[in-house]
Amino acid sequence: MKRNLKTYRKYAESLLEFIDASPTPFHATGELAALLKAEGFAELQEADSWSLKKNGRYYVTRNDSSLVAFVMGSQSAEQAGFKIIGAHTDSPNLRLKPNPAYEKSGYVQLGVEVYGGVLLATWTDRDLSLAGRVVLESKKGQPVSRLLKIDKPLLRIPQLAIHLNREVNDKGLKLNKQTHLPPILQMAEKNLSSEKVLKELVAGELKCKVEEIVSLDLALYDVQASTFAGPNDEFVFAPRLDNLASCHAATIALLEAPKQDSTTRVLAFYDHEEVGSESAQGGGSPFLKDALERIVMDTKNSREALMRAIAKSVFISADMAHAVHPNYADKHEDRHLPLINAGPVIKTNAGQRYATDGVSSAHFELLCKRAGVNVQKFVVRSDMGCGSTIGPITAANLGIRTVDVGNPMLSMHSIREMAGSQDHGDLIQVFREYFSAE
Ligand code: ZN
Repeated sequence: MKRNLKTYRKYAESLLEFIDASPTPFHATGELAALLKAEGFAELQEADSWSLKKNGRYYVTRNDSSLVAFVMGSQSAEQAGFKIIGAHTDSPNLRLKPNPAYEKSGYVQLGVEVYGGVLLATWTDRDLSLAGRVVLESKKGQPVSRLLKIDKPLLRIPQLAIHLNREVNDKGLKLNKQTHLPPILQMAEKNLSSEKVLKELVAGELKCKVEEIVSLDLALYDVQASTFAGPNDEFVFAPRLDNLASCHAATIALLEAPKQDSTTRVLAFYDHEEVGSESAQGGGSPFLKDALERIVMDTKNSREALMRAIAKSVFISADMAHAVHPNYADKHEDRHLPLINAGPVIKTNAGQRYATDGVSSAHFELLCKRAGVNVQKFVVRSDMGCGSTIGPITAANLGIRTVDVGNPMLSMHSIREMAGSQDHGDLIQVFREYFSAE
């Protein structure tokens, strides 16, 4: 396997920049849209009528947190099918409750909900801040969304000192989600309402009036920047690698692939994967199907054309995979031990927690072969439960042949995850191969 280390380094650098700019799905979607726009993709609105051109480049968003982008093929989708890569924009985190601010024991604190399968202990003793979407009232009395990202340490969930919790190292850190997670914002002051403290902070950042703020979709994030690590920078340490790394790899691959292809090439990035995908913009929604149907109907007004297009297509569901952990190697299946920097992983599960089958697996394996990239395989131990992805959900929704793949990583769902700096370039190569004519 030949790796162009200079190019690979650039890919990983651009991934880390993207992750740091994207603390929430709203930011990730905005960043991806900006990348596409800069390369000539035109924005479509779901509420408008679409008129699409051969080889045209388009994207559409839903709720500012999910995105579908596509490059029209030189042949109709009915003739040539689709090539689709799907991933998710969300990551587990802590989110502010609707009335978050309160005073307790002399502190101003913020009430939080747990979003997705958070490794809770990793959120303690970190330099946290706030990011997300703020909804303001326009002059005409309508809701207008603004992005917010406060770039400084602002909040902390302090651990209890070991002197007051002597058994913590033997029994593990047990956190009650209601009582132990609210971060400290500041010391309380007489005659100062906690709610006002938070709203003034937000208004100051957005340079708007406190009265204009109607509602907040805000989450906590760690302000520590992502970094290369290891003696030879072989690792990356970063938040949200699951699954911003897959969104980034697929987008870069599409941008680097030849401008024209007979097949219509599609990116589908969903919100809400970490909480089961059942929402208007999640993997369980008709967002992608709606877009595919509009693409097909643009050239031929027939439902059969959509079915023919889907029957000719393969969907790659890209989400991170579990590399073998040296301290817990027994948690892995003995003959399926993915290593970091050893290439993308094909994930299989007989219970269909992953959508891969022999044929879709072979499709991906042959892509890797053509790209000159090593490929690995993962299956969970037979005596353990298996995670899942948007793969089976999309497969069931669209009736499309699907393969579940992703790069190996450690500390999945920690506030600071770990992956290989080489794997990202490998995945981009394979995705670019997929998006290039056979
Ligand atoms: Zn994921």
